Amino acid sequence: MLDANTHRDVFRLHHESCRPCSDLFAFARERGDLQALGAWREQLAAHLANEAERREYDRLVREWLTGSRGGEAWSPERVAP
Ligand SMILES: [Zn+2]
Repeated sequence: MLDANTHRDVFRLHHESCRPCSDLFAFARERGDLQALGAWREQLAAHLANEAERREYDRLVREWLTGSRGGEAWSPERVAP
């Protein structure tokens, strides 16, 4: 389900950049289809979770590349999801 703590802008940015989500939302709204609206909410939650995971992964890789984690032995395998 959608996380109530997710900022409004995160929804908006995703909605504007993700065609499958915006299409499904438009479909649900046009038809007043609550089942499609439910599917849209689930899809959106899954996409946002993927984005959050990717951001975390990118952050770890950046830390590894810049050596900002001190002497710890970081490698792409170690930070892979
Ligand atoms: Zn999406």
